[in-house]
Amino acid sequence: MTRIDDLPIRDELRGKSPYGAPQLDVPVRLNTNENPYPLPEPLVARIVERVTEAARHLNRYPDRDAVELRTELAAYLTRTTGHAVATANVWAANGSNEVIQQLLQAFGGPGRTALGFEPSYSMHALISRGTGTGWLSGPRNDDFTVDIDRARAAIAEHRPDVLFICSPNNPTGTAVEAETVIALHDAAQDAKPSLVVVDEAYVEFSHRPSLLRLIEGRRNLVVSRTMSKAFGAAGLRLGYLAANQAVVDAVQLVRLPYHLSAVTQATALAALEHTDTLLKYVEQLKGERDRLVEELRAVGCEVTESDANFVQFGRFADSHEAWRALLERGVLVRDNGVPGWLRVTAGTPEENDAFLDAVRKLKKEST
Ligand code: PMP
Repeated sequence: MTRIDDLPIRDELRGKSPYGAPQLDVPVRLNTNENPYPLPEPLVARIVERVTEAARHLNRYPDRDAVELRTELAAYLTRTTGHAVATANVWAANGSNEVIQQLLQAFGGPGRTALGFEPSYSMHALISRGTGTGWLSGPRNDDFTVDIDRARAAIAEHRPDVLFICSPNNPTGTAVEAETVIALHDAAQDAKPSLVVVDEAYVEFSHRPSLLRLIEGRRNLVVSRTMSKAFGAAGLRLGYLAANQAVVDAVQLVRLPYHLSAVTQATALAALEHTDTLLKYVEQLKGERDRLVEELRAVGCEVTESDANFVQFGRFADSHEAWRALLERGVLVRDNGVPGWLRVTAGTPEENDAFLDAVRKLKKEST
């Protein structure tokens, strides 16, 4: 059988594994930070209406610049953060993964490096490699927060071209203070002009406000967002960014023409009409997230403070064994390879009860 490494593949991709959370058919799936609530029926009906209209024009290419969608995303950001952003400050792509890829194509690339504070979202490193950008791993404290002094030292040493700050961070759930982001942004600019990407995929679930306001007066700071989590639309594939207008101009140099299909644009616009309903689910999930933290602590687990729709819990002598034991009880959580820790996504109250039951039994057996 021919293997990848038998092909004339780029050296930096040899021996690497693709991103892959297991997609297993089990009763309780709490492993990919999805929103457990299906889209409400009135929104489904509106999507059908909007997509039907779009279908009538599918002989034509879609709006290449997705202006109507970017305008509505800008309005959503302005309304929910209190910080005014315009259409020209917003860019959209197929998931925030593609947003990140476009940023790395424009600001990373061969001979350049990106740095992130690990453990963090593994795709930051993978997309860096995929775009020929060197990856550098920065430090975190034992409680998974980012220490300003150690982070500054890493930035001064490596002088990265792109700096990733994930807040709330996946897989730990930890948020980064605005002062820390400013300090790291400034340190990165002191080292050399570099792009600072604040990944706010989970920010709607946070106890703290968005860091969006920090783009004001900082032309090299970008905030990336997604409709995959708070909007409950992971299947839609819609991510976006907000930044200085020049950053939006820059990603247009590397985006594929017509990258956002007319069907995607129509569906995302329908979802944005129902933001208020969708954000009510977010409130419910925040409550469930807080309950998971509390009840996991009550059964003797260590839990990392969470500002996301998931919770990192442990510690297990063998976290993969604990992962397997939970799976045997019909509950799929995530083993991100952080030694001693697992991650569970907040599901419906019933799913969370099933998960907590499984953990209680696991704990009982191990004592
Ligand atoms: N950023 C973070 C921190 C994530 O956890 C994820 C998804 N797991 C993404 C970005 C990408 O999400 P999407 O491409 O669905 O927008």
